[in-house]
Amino acid sequence: MRQEERKTIHAAIIGAALFLLIQIFRTPLGNIQNEELLLALYLIAGCCNIAFSFAIFAQGWLFFSDKLSKARLFTSALFLGVCIFDFLHTLSFTGISYIASYINSEQSLWVLTVSRLASSLGILFIFSREDEPVSVKGKKRAISISLLVITLFLAVLLFGENVLPGGPDYTWASTFKHIVDMAVLFIYLLSVAIIVYPGRIEKSASLLIIIRALIFFALGQVFFMNLFSVGELDNLLGMFCSGVAYYLMLTGVYRLTIEEPFHESRLAEARINYLAYHDDLTGLPNRRRLMQRVEELMVQGGGKDKTGAFSALAIMNINHFKNINDSLGHFAGDELLQRVALRIGEEVQAGEELFSMGADEFAFLMTGRSGAESCMLRSAELQRLFESPVSLESGEYHISLSLGVSIFPGDGETAEQLIQNADTAVHNAKEQGVEIRRYIPAMQMKAKERLKLENDLRRALERDEFYLVYQPQVQLATEEIVGMEALLRWNHPKRGQVSPVEFIPVAEESGLIVPIGEWVLRTACRQNKQWQTAGYRPICVSINLSMRQFLQPNLSGKIAAILQDIGLDPRYVDLEITESMTLDKETAFEQLNRLKGLGVFISIDDFGTGYSSLHYLKNMPIDRLKIDRSFVAEVMEDSNNAAIVSTITSMAHHLKLKVTAEGVENKEQLQFLREQQCHEAQGYLFGKPLQAAEFERSFLKQVLRLGL
Ligand code: C2E
Ligand code: CA
Ligand code: CA
Repeated sequence: MRQEERKTIHAAIIGAALFLLIQIFRTPLGNIQNEELLLALYLIAGCCNIAFSFAIFAQGWLFFSDKLSKARLFTSALFLGVCIFDFLHTLSFTGISYIASYINSEQSLWVLTVSRLASSLGILFIFSREDEPVSVKGKKRAISISLLVITLFLAVLLFGENVLPGGPDYTWASTFKHIVDMAVLFIYLLSVAIIVYPGRIEKSASLLIIIRALIFFALGQVFFMNLFSVGELDNLLGMFCSGVAYYLMLTGVYRLTIEEPFHESRLAEARINYLAYHDDLTGLPNRRRLMQRVEELMVQGGGKDKTGAFSALAIMNINHFKNINDSLGHFAGDELLQRVALRIGEEVQAGEELFSMGADEFAFLMTGRSGAESCMLRSAELQRLFESPVSLESGEYHISLSLGVSIFPGDGETAEQLIQNADTAVHNAKEQGVEIRRYIPAMQMKAKERLKLENDLRRALERDEFYLVYQPQVQLATEEIVGMEALLRWNHPKRGQVSPVEFIPVAEESGLIVPIGEWVLRTACRQNKQWQTAGYRPICVSINLSMRQFLQPNLSGKIAAILQDIGLDPRYVDLEITESMTLDKETAFEQLNRLKGLGVFISIDDFGTGYSSLHYLKNMPIDRLKIDRSFVAEVMEDSNNAAIVSTITSMAHHLKLKVTAEGVENKEQLQFLREQQCHEAQGYLFGKPLQAAEFERSFLKQVLRLGL
């Protein structure tokens, strides 16, 4: 329970206890007969009430009128009236002669009743609705209206003959007053009930203060009504309770309409500030903050640092994060980023700071280093943090980081340069497939070059700069050619031949892979169909799919249209996907089923290099594993690789999948693969990838006997 809630319950208990105590000590209290003293006390209590209610009015009228809200304005207007009525009541009831000559004591009690009726109705009206801001114009209007109403009432009270009963029909009037008093009490309690009503949004502390005020209003009302008469003391006690109630009202309205909104706006400001300088996902300070920090550092260290200390900025990028994100979903991607932030965060020591650079990038700022070497050593330590897998909800994943380091002084004159250079270094590290790179000026070129490559790639399709080459796939048992892999080539007008290893990732990142991939599909299928029409024995064409292509929900539709167009039988098409595309099991499963539904074959390319979750593959609708050429390459030198190849092959047999070995370059490798009962093989030993015409001449025209 919050403190304010506790206080409110205490107020209720105190109110009830006070009431009980007074009931218990009724007789001794009733014996206080000192009229003068009682009147003096009444006057004091009355003055307090007047002061408090005036303060409530002034609070709305005078302060922060640009931040006026309905609740504050209306209470202000209401308590202006209450203040005036209480003033009249107090003065007349205590017998201040001039006023008392207009209003006798019976009428004075009526004035009090009117004031309380107004306050009860007003409070009920104001606090049973949501508060809203109001214009300064509204302020003038509300106060004018309330002044008008008050004047009207006063005129009626003071000058209307017999409006206020005090004369002969006293009994009727007293019954009526009793009913009105009852109604007032009921309205106070009703207001409490409405504010407390559980359906309303969570009670703010200030509304709880208003509830406390209402409790004392109600208690005061009970005294005023002489319900449990304590003789002369009744009205005085009522006045005291009212005093407490007004005071609480004053603080409540202040808190509700001034302090809380102000506090809220301060909180909002703090939140905005936080958001501006922090990454929402990881809670780490962000790039903007990093910029500030590096600037500060540079000012501090700008030549004046006599210790000769070095600072370094290491930008870390999670390798293949996009694959993980695309295949496992954003949820898992976010989770991974949080885990990575946590793991590096735990490593942060004095003089070091971790920042999030957005997406899958983090920045690690280290200061007070003895030299460039120590900076690089520390960076290598960060890199090694990910030797153990990261566990996500969906399982454990091995990830690695690429690091780009820029060191100050040396690698940049401004904060922006230093950050930019670390960024360039990390991208360079990624391109080269190395773990850590320190910035060197030559790298700048690289980043620009890459941008240029992307631009050229954009135009390559239109300019017809792509073509396909075909590499034969051989069945080991019969030495027959049973298939060919279509591989993309780019003949750049200036650069000449650009390797797919270089441009496919750029195409993938920029999304250009989708139209390019479609071109590959269409061209390869058309070529295969042409050869079939020319009368060659039909063979299967293997086509590489990229992640983005594979994630297109309508991929199977597109392929179906292409096959239909060309009139190629789907059983002569084999689609190569990689393991990383099957990470999100459900989506991959659906996609594969759709593709299989077309009647094409599916192979897992580069098998063994990915996530190698063999049990995943068990239920996937796939036909073939292609053992990555890195294993095949060293199969004769490295017993580990030999073991991997033989395990994959035997597992494939077990799962009733076909196995193709990639990158077979010599007879020893072939021999080994034969022993493992590998079904098919592909590699320079049988043939390099060739352009269509050459492929036709070398492999299709002759009845092929490789004689191996
Ligand atoms: P990949 O699918 O694993 O293709 C096999 C790569 O190994 C080809 O390189 C091929 O030329 C090379 N290779 C074949 N036999 C041997 C061998 O005996 N020894 C050695 N050392 N290498 C051999 P390439 O054509 O440079 O393609 C590289 C990668 O580019 C491909 O790897 C594939 O991932 C991607 N790629 C190529 N064409 C396409 C395409 O049309 N679409 C997509 N999405 N990716 C493609
Ligand atoms: Ca391939
Ligand atoms: Ca491959």
